[in-house]
Amino acid sequence: MSFRLYNTLSGEVEEVRPSAPPEVRMYACGPTVYNRAHIGNFRTFVATDVLRRALTYCGFRVREVMNLTDVDDRIIKLAAEAGQEIGPFTAAHIAAFEADMKALRMERPEIVPKATEHIAEMVELIGKLIARGHTYVADGSVYFRIGSFPDYGKLARLDVSGMKAGARVDTDKYEKEDARDFVLWKLKADEPAWAQWDAPFGKGRPGWHIECSAMGMKYLGDTLDLHAGGVDLIFPHHENEIAQSQCGTGHPFVRHWMHVEHLLVNEETMSKSKGNFFTLPDLVEAGHSPEAVRYLLAQAHYRKQLNFSFEGLDQAKAALERIHGAVRRLGEVETAGPASAAALEAGERAETAFAAALRDDLNAPEAIAAVHGLVTDANQLLAGGALNAAGAGALRERFERMDRVFGVLLPAGEDRLEADLQALFDARQEARRARDFRRADEVRADLERRGIVLEDTPRGTRWRRS
Ligand code: AMP
Ligand code: ZN
Repeated sequence: MSFRLYNTLSGEVEEVRPSAPPEVRMYACGPTVYNRAHIGNFRTFVATDVLRRALTYCGFRVREVMNLTDVDDRIIKLAAEAGQEIGPFTAAHIAAFEADMKALRMERPEIVPKATEHIAEMVELIGKLIARGHTYVADGSVYFRIGSFPDYGKLARLDVSGMKAGARVDTDKYEKEDARDFVLWKLKADEPAWAQWDAPFGKGRPGWHIECSAMGMKYLGDTLDLHAGGVDLIFPHHENEIAQSQCGTGHPFVRHWMHVEHLLVNEETMSKSKGNFFTLPDLVEAGHSPEAVRYLLAQAHYRKQLNFSFEGLDQAKAALERIHGAVRRLGEVETAGPASAAALEAGERAETAFAAALRDDLNAPEAIAAVHGLVTDANQLLAGGALNAAGAGALRERFERMDRVFGVLLPAGEDRLEADLQALFDARQEARRARDFRRADEVRADLERRGIVLEDTPRGTRWRRS
């Protein structure tokens, strides 16, 4: 079950080694829910979705937490301007985010916690940091003293030696070259009552960084197997997460850090503040499909910047049409007989290359090249009349398996099994291959109880909902 991935902390491509395999306890920093996420944000979210699907495809069981940041400077300001409290204000933005996630075929992470529902965990963690002497109170806020954590700056390879002792920052969003003590808890009497919570160290509200530590550790334990986010979060956000978590628990916070490079427009990072962004609805409005957007984002290497362009989106659409066309034609072959060696070999070759690419630092472009290689082979076999139904079914099954990672390889309207049902389906195929028919029948019965009826046809095993 080898899976290698670049680890920002070590600077090397390393084996993913979860503490309790096959489970991978993974955390991804989620959106701040005060507006519509743009497709730059979704580049990171889609890449982490491809990662979790690739891990599952390779035999791991993923338990992922993705937080919703629903309290910060901007949210409080915008909610107050709208005459709303946090809950009603963020509800619409959360619904929009979930709609975009779904349209982009992202699997929903197992746990999607809201910051405002985990204030108690944050207060507890801050309490530990206070007790252990890592904090001080100034300017009406509780700060983390980064000088109290010698490892500060390791993830970002930051030189903190020239750091000004006691220099502070208490906004939620900042991009600074220099490391500064950051705010854990804001004791702000001038903010609305609905944005204040009780704490032993004074009524107030959390800073941004503490939420990810508190929620990550609540659901995944003191040491997370994998933590993902965009590259802009390495410093200060993730550096701060490490500092406050490790100082709070005394344990390493994260084994493996994965960071996704940015989506650019004309060589500049796509961002709200630059105004050079598109949301998914913007692109759909302009006639593009969410599937093409996902394909465009998912086929790129997560460690390389990706330049967004409408030509790129058109190419994504054409690539998808090519794949869908082949998959559709494979479903139309009706000749009887056993699958040919040529068909079986083409399928095997493609999936072996596909899996090897994913296991080697989540190499999506190479994995997609394997998909297109199979399209070429399938088209040739089809054109030469060399495929019967069994051979075509074997090739189609390969596309279905590869689709589990990319989520857009099957033509529109294709139903897909939910992950837990798919795992059962796979277990039955495995049992059949091993000629363990008793086990195969047991799994078939289990699937039937869950509303999935199987049919073994010359084209392979098909399923339908009862
Ligand atoms: P935010 O809602 O601002 O906290 O951002 C949500 C996620 O989007 C974070 O993981 C960011 O790193 C990521 N992100 C922001 N801009 C881009 C971009 N242009 N390309 C890729 N990821 C981005
Ligand atoms: Zn975070």
